[in-house]
Amino acid sequence: MSKSTPLEQAHAGAARLREDIRRFCAETLPAELRRKAGRHQVLAKADYLQWLRLLQRQGWLVGHWPRDCGGAGWSALERFAFEDELARQGCPWVLPFGVKYVGPVIYTYGTEAQKDRFLPAIVSSEEFWAQGYSEPGAGSDLAALRTEARREGEHYVVTGQKVWTTYAQWADWMFCLVKTSRGPRPQDGISFLLIDMRSPGITVKPIRTMDGYHHVNEVWLDEVRVPVANLVGEEGEGWSHAKFLLRNERTAGAIVGMARHVLRRLERLAADTPSPEGGRLIDEPSMRQRLGEFELRFLALEAAAYQAMEAVMNGAESGAEAALIKVRGTELYQDIAEALVDALGPAGIAYDTAALHDAGLPPLGPDDAGGIVKEHLYNRAATIFGGSSEVQRNILARAVLGL
Ligand SMILES: Cc1cc2nc3c(=O)[nH]c(=O)nc-3n(C[C@H](O)[C@H](O)[C@H](O)COP(=O)(O)OP(=O)(O)OC[C@H]3O[C@@H](n4cnc5c(N)ncnc54)[C@H](O)[C@@H]3O)c2cc1C
Repeated sequence: MSKSTPLEQAHAGAARLREDIRRFCAETLPAELRRKAGRHQVLAKADYLQWLRLLQRQGWLVGHWPRDCGGAGWSALERFAFEDELARQGCPWVLPFGVKYVGPVIYTYGTEAQKDRFLPAIVSSEEFWAQGYSEPGAGSDLAALRTEARREGEHYVVTGQKVWTTYAQWADWMFCLVKTSRGPRPQDGISFLLIDMRSPGITVKPIRTMDGYHHVNEVWLDEVRVPVANLVGEEGEGWSHAKFLLRNERTAGAIVGMARHVLRRLERLAADTPSPEGGRLIDEPSMRQRLGEFELRFLALEAAAYQAMEAVMNGAESGAEAALIKVRGTELYQDIAEALVDALGPAGIAYDTAALHDAGLPPLGPDDAGGIVKEHLYNRAATIFGGSSEVQRNILARAVLGL
């Protein structure tokens, strides 16, 4: 009998993980959490903590971490299967700030003391993290950031402003890029600091997004004292850690599963909705054409994602794979989300955040109508955060076309 190759083993491991996730969703996921996620409600901090701890109990939350750091040492394919399958099943967002973003930076570049101090509380979700990268004038051009940290004895004194900081209002800690010196290149003198959000001098101001909710914030830092012990890696070398983190940010498994989830919802909604012409919406030629195009785009996206994962496993990635999946995935997701709102008809016009949150007002149309509109509105940002589509196309042009 021939022995299976590592790639075949990884595919088999990923298939088993998908089965386990489907069983978990059917049998273990608490009904209330499933209902909220199914209606696309905005979850409270307590919901997210419950969700992350449930995943940890399954042994999945840090499955992508190496075994000697407490993870399961998943392959790229298993990691993809985890993110993709949860999203296909319509599960809540696996908040990435601790487990996916800063955790790997700490176990890769941090001191032993930092690992002991921070990693257990990330794994147990006892401490909530936010990402302090973007600033006014420093989003796509991140190296242009201006928040300054000057050294005073055993502290850095940090002054500046971060913006679009997701869930900073809940965060205990923020990992933050700061300038500790200036050099000829904008990337010079950037350092990676871990900042306690209870420190004096921090002000968090809400930004309300067009879905009517408070997901993102401005974070103002005014002479905030941060122990030097909270510097990760070498002073002035933070740009390489920042890029390491961004590579993890752009493993885009979830967007494939999210696209599939909303596509199936669109098919069901179109099948249940009467057409103004008589019959069902799904039988209208324009809807059939739209669904057919979405299905083809989804299949191409899924195939590209598998090719990308296999390239990662074979050490043959070009660096452009994540950019391709990000652009294609988020743009497909947005187009399907828009078609869902169209299919809602009048129920897609009346958007009511109170009805979405059970304030005694039933939504117009199906139970998830408010959530469908909320997702459409919020995810206009999906082609901006994590690297805008234009910037991803620049990456593709350089890597694939050599421009
Ligand atoms: C909902 C949401 C949540 C976010 N959460 C976080 C968070 O938690 N932490 C965090 O640090 N940041 C967060 N961000 C910020 C996000 O990373 C930035 O918005 C993103 O990097 C774009 O930067 P910008 O907003 O400054 O836009 P800009 O960089 O100013 O871009 C403006 C426009 O110019 C285009 N553009 C810019 N440069 C180029 C170029 N070289 N070539 C072609 N076109 C270009 C862009 O594509 C865009 O259309 C979040 C953003 C949003 C919307």
